Amino acid sequence: MDLKTFKKFEQSGFIFESASGFRLGVDIGNKTPIENLEGVACDAMLVSHIHGDHFFPENIRKLSPKDLYLNDECRASLPEGALSCELKHIEAGTTFGIGDFKITAFTVDHGPNINPLKENLGFLIEVDDKKIYFPGDMFYPSGIDTTALEVDLLLVPVGTHYTFGPQEAIDFVKTFKEARIVVPMHFENKPETRDEFLELARKEGIPAQN
Ligand SMILES: [Zn+2]
Repeated sequence: MDLKTFKKFEQSGFIFESASGFRLGVDIGNKTPIENLEGVACDAMLVSHIHGDHFFPENIRKLSPKDLYLNDECRASLPEGALSCELKHIEAGTTFGIGDFKITAFTVDHGPNINPLKENLGFLIEVDDKKIYFPGDMFYPSGIDTTALEVDLLLVPVGTHYTFGPQEAIDFVKTFKEARIVVPMHFENKPETRDEFLELARKEGIPAQN
């Protein structure tokens, strides 16, 4: 996978493509207009939690993955036959394969400003000897130990209120042993938080890019 050519969508949506061409979609939710997905497809999709800006069945249908990996809470919310893809269960604390990808799922603390939810996941995504860290909606530092973790791509939410704000995101990035590229996400409600984060990162010498 070439880390410079992964595709970013609104909020926390991404498509990563392995060297052999397997496409994994992650959290392409309701902030992405369905027209933007015209001609876009995934081989498999991964969902972190039930909130609509991460889990939006209409967009999943449009992307037509063969397999959809989701937690029980998301699955239970789907009407029978709502999606034609195969539904695969994710359990926090496990590692599993999806095509060329290896995923480790962990529980993330979404903080106090949300409607209560049962399961909120983040993912360590490994592909072609690259490591990508996707914390989903993280408000308090949580999940796997990051102090010994070297990642090629670190995605971090910066939008405040439901997740880290810019400063908390910087503090979290600094907990990693190494993060080669840092990309802010989850700022559709407050686009200025992206710029604040990028400015803070510049001052700290953190290799962030939009
Ligand atoms: Zn959320």
